[in-house]
This record gives sequence, C-alpha cells and structure tokens, in this order.
Amino acid sequence: MSVSSTASTSASTGGPDLPQERRVVTAIPGPKSAELLARKQAAVSDGIGTVLPVFVKAAGGGVIVDVDDNSLIDLGAGIAVVNVGNAAPSVVAGIQEQAAAFTHTCFMVTPYEGYVAVAEQLNKLTPGDHEKKTALFNSGAEAVENAVKIARYATGRSAVVVFEHAYHGRTNLTMALTAKSMPYKYNFGPFAGEIYRVPLSYPFRWPTGAENAGSEGLEQAISKIEKEIGADQVAAILIEPIAGEGGFIVPGEGFLSGLAEYASSHGIVFIADEVQTGFARTGDMFACEHEGVVPDIITTAKGIAGGMPLAAVTGRADLMDAVHVGGLGGTYGGNPVACAAALGAMAAIEEHDLVAKARRIGEIMLPRLAEMQSRYPVIGDIRGRGAMIAIELVKPGTLEPATEQIAAIVKQCHSEGVLVLTAGTYGNVLRFLPPLTMPEALLDEALTILDKAFASAT
Ligand SMILES: *Cc1c(COP(=O)(O)O)cnc(C)c1O
Repeated sequence: MSVSSTASTSASTGGPDLPQERRVVTAIPGPKSAELLARKQAAVSDGIGTVLPVFVKAAGGGVIVDVDDNSLIDLGAGIAVVNVGNAAPSVVAGIQEQAAAFTHTCFMVTPYEGYVAVAEQLNKLTPGDHEKKTALFNSGAEAVENAVKIARYATGRSAVVVFEHAYHGRTNLTMALTAKSMPYKYNFGPFAGEIYRVPLSYPFRWPTGAENAGSEGLEQAISKIEKEIGADQVAAILIEPIAGEGGFIVPGEGFLSGLAEYASSHGIVFIADEVQTGFARTGDMFACEHEGVVPDIITTAKGIAGGMPLAAVTGRADLMDAVHVGGLGGTYGGNPVACAAALGAMAAIEEHDLVAKARRIGEIMLPRLAEMQSRYPVIGDIRGRGAMIAIELVKPGTLEPATEQIAAIVKQCHSEGVLVLTAGTYGNVLRFLPPLTMPEALLDEALTILDKAFASAT
C-alpha cells in the first residue's frame, strides 16, 4: 500500500497537538488531493458524494489538515461526530488499549464489560430518572430502525408518526421515515408502510407568524394523527428535537413537550432521535433537556464515540425488555473498540465541561451572525442552540430560497480554508457544527471569513 507515503513525510500528528491555525498553501483542493480525487473517481461509486474533496492527513482541536498541508478550520465535525475533537486523547487511548487486548468476540456470543459500561453511562446520562436499559448498534439508522421495532413490539401497534423535514437515515425503513426525496429516497422505493408524516413546527416559515408555530403546529400534528390514523393505532411518535438535515429547525415552544404529553396519554411511545443533537452538541447533554422533555426511547449515534461507529437505543426498561430474547442484536453492535472510544468520549465531555463549551460557542456565534444579518438581508433566519447553529438564506424580504448565493458563499469559504456544510429541505441553510474543542480565536477567524464571503456573494 502506498497510500500513506504523503502522510508519513510530514511529522504532524493528529489530535490536539496540531497547530491550531488556518493555513492555505495551495489551491483548494491542492495537487495531491486532486490526484487522490482522480483515484476516488475511478475506484469509488459515484453514488458517494463529497462536500469538499481535500484528502485528510490529520485533524484535531478545530482544524483538518490535508495532504497538501492546508489547515482548514472545521465547522462540520464530520457531521456532529467529533464533538470531543478529532483524535481526542481519551478516545485514542481507549481504542489503543482495547484493540491490543481484543477487537471482537460478538457481544451475543461472549460478552465483555465495555458494552455494559456504555449502557450504564447512557442509562444515567439520558433524560429522566426512571429505570432504563440500552441496546447498542452500528449506525444512527440502525438505532432508529430498532427503536421502531421495539415500539411496535411493545405496543402491538404498527403506525409510526414522523414529521416534515425529518431525517432518520438511508436504510429501507429509515428512508421511509426521512422526508426529503432528493438525494435520500429518489428512485430507491418501494418504501416501508405504516409511516405517517405530519407537519413540523417551523417557526421561520409558519404562515401566521413564528410565535404561533408551537401551539398551532401541535394542534395540526395532533389533528392529523386523530383524523388520519387514530391514536390507538400509533406505536410511536418519532422526532428530532432539532431537525438536523432538515435545516436545524427548532420547533416552536411547547411543540415537543405537547407531543410527548399527547403520546404518554395515548399509550404511544415517544422516540427522540438525538443522533445529531446528542452528546453536548446543543449546550445540554441531550436537546430534549431544554424543554424538560423525557422521551420513552432515545436514539443516539454520531457524537457518541469520538468518530468510531457506534449507536444506541436507550429507553424505559419495560419497553426495552418487551422483545423476546434474540429479537435484537447484530454481529458488530457494541463492538469493544467502539465501546472503549465511547467511554473515552463521555469522559472527555465531562472532564472538559463540553456542555458549557457548546453554550459558549453559541454565545459567540449568535451575536456575530445577528450583526451580519443587519448588513446582509439575504440572511432570513438564524437559529439553533449551543454549537448547532444555522442560517437560512432567502431572497430578501421573501421565503424564497437563495440557492445561488449559498453556493457562492460555501465555495468562497472552502477556498479560504473554512469548511462549512449546508442543509435544509430547500438546500438554502448554512449549518455550523464545530468540534466543541474549537479554539475561540479560530472560531472568530472563521466568522470573519464567512462575513467576507457574504460581502462578495450578495
Ligand atoms: C445522521 C442521522 C441519522 C442516521 O445516522 P447514520 O449513522 O448516518 O445511519 C439518523 N437520525 C438523525 C437525526 C441523523 O442526524
């Protein structure tokens, strides 16, 4: 394998030892990345897209360093995964120690302590002090699928209520749960049945005004459930507390708590999909805590294990224990190396008080973005919580997506060494998900570059 020849010529290690600086030394992507991109295009399915084709050699703190030695400010965290920073020391140490001891036995064949320890942590950290149990899986989609399986089994009902703008994954069941056709569902049907989509409270686009989005949204969702499904047919209401891929839509106040109450009074399992919002991202350990909502089941993945593939379903013990023995599982679910990484990541969140860091990131970003909004009328809405912040771009004074401007802004940010991601049903949302280890000076610099990008694109 000659893949590592470039990486080994430079002495840079990943993790927090990387110089925390923005450094652009070639065009982006540079010549070495361009070579690798050509190999990717020849070898990797075209169905796998790339936001920014710089090939990574190291990452840590708030930066990603590419094979051409450019150092980019990372406002994506691998899509809200490396909340604790890339190659975080406690994650790396856990992985190294566990990998040297054993890499896999299959927990369903011969178990090991790490899996149990992760379950204990999740039972403790998730909202509510009722008795909880956990099952581990490999990906967010797999966790959501299993949450639905458990809810159906426990209730003996089949209908699942999901929301407009929802994203729950790309497997067959989760495609059906996801709202957006292109690129997630288009041409991939037929989809699973008994999935019912109801309106989401979307304050910025609420016809009678943002202040009514919570109460009217709740009314509409419940009315649809009652009239089109029947409450006693519903196994689960499944919702992201903040819609992630849908554009960081924070539902109006009372929407989530009202749905949770409605579910509980009708024997419906309330499932919070916290795959993107979990693990300190929103300035709480879990986003549900903000409104004091206690879900029956919570699904987690992304930020759980500092970059290792792991996912979990955590919920009321009576629900989690309803399924027959052997009804849940999978070959790799709760892999010992991934579990060691998760324990390292959870320790880092506590040790470095990353919940507070996420809040601080929001406190830095929101006023800067609000000030920009006063100068750039293309910024229609600024929303989110903690270190999960987005801006929705519209043609000034309208709700029409400003798609050309967003493309120009993203392009300029990338060429100046700031990695930003987009989102949204209309593709017009810039979303910011910095690692919670982002140095404040770098965050500040990234916002200055963003400001410049707005100035030249609008
Ligand atoms: C990313 C995501 C998923 C899917 O997770 P994968 O690990 O990509 O399968 C599910 N739900 C939400 C809210 C997500 O953000």
